[in-house]
Amino acid sequence: MRGTGVGEFDLIARYFTRPVRRAALGVGDDCALLAPRPGMQIAVSSDMLVEGRHFLATVPPERLGHKALAVNLSDLAACGAEPLAFTLAISMPRVDAAFLGPLADGLWQLADAHGIELVGGDTTAGPLNLCITVFGEVPAGQALLRSGAGVGDDVWVSGTLGDARLALEVFRGRVALSADDFERVRLAMERPQPRVALGRALRGVASSAIDLSDGLVGDLGHVLRRSGVGAVVDVDALPCSEILRDQGTELRHECLLAGGDDYELLFTAPAGARSAVAAAAALAGVPVTRCGHIEAGSSLSIVDGAGRPLDARWRAFDHFA
Ligand code: ADP
Ligand code: MG
Repeated sequence: MRGTGVGEFDLIARYFTRPVRRAALGVGDDCALLAPRPGMQIAVSSDMLVEGRHFLATVPPERLGHKALAVNLSDLAACGAEPLAFTLAISMPRVDAAFLGPLADGLWQLADAHGIELVGGDTTAGPLNLCITVFGEVPAGQALLRSGAGVGDDVWVSGTLGDARLALEVFRGRVALSADDFERVRLAMERPQPRVALGRALRGVASSAIDLSDGLVGDLGHVLRRSGVGAVVDVDALPCSEILRDQGTELRHECLLAGGDDYELLFTAPAGARSAVAAAAALAGVPVTRCGHIEAGSSLSIVDGAGRPLDARWRAFDHFA
């Protein structure tokens, strides 16, 4: 490890090296080599997980390995890209087999589930920090973008929203749940399932897409700005678990609208594509819910089921706010 000179290559060989299948060259040289198929574009995205900021010290290492890759796969999903390869840059205070073993297991399990392979990275001593870069493939011109939402389109979300934020509020001591319910929302926070199959199935169907990492209000705001449109979203139409439904209105709205860490897809599609959206969701085995529509203008209004506007204090989670 740079800075310690101890065990770096053993560690890489032991935990982070496997023969490559699709890449032309994997771990062990100065660069990895990817071999994209003709007619495909490469989708690239990085996400970093910093202890105390993106995860708590209480997270089991297997789940941390899972989540570090999951949040990156979620970006490929949002673009409708098929996962190919990833790199892992990791800094950690010490070489600890009891940590690295399960971390690598969590990583490999999710990698195998999505057919993505680890082709390189960097390893150094320092505060615990994981940065993954993913590479995916998408037919040229077919990537789902934030910029395609059109006036009159429906707004959709996948899965359920808000449970990860609810788990965080339990950790913060603001909410108490039964042990079973806590474990269920904790899984949403610590083991999110990236919607890769859904993103791929929505190519040619959705007009725009984004993955929900910072909360619906902020993330939909990115789509609206990039697309030059506004939207109306019905908070009572947003899909949530029974556990979140049982919480008070205030907390439920906060978790649904500004929760963060959902890793569901938010996408738009023309009203005429509703059956195509349903078919894509069925193919991917992921439920989707229509929760609003795109309008002319630039504002986002959040209304309740009776059409009454909520106040405007719902803000995205911003790391520098
Ligand atoms: P360089 O000095 O050329 O950057 P390193 O000595 O840091 O290379 O790493 C040796 C090889 O191990 C490289 O192929 C690099 O991509 C790979 N590698 C380093 N850290 C990791 C990791 N955490 N996971 C996977 N591969 C890694
Ligand atoms: Mg290096």
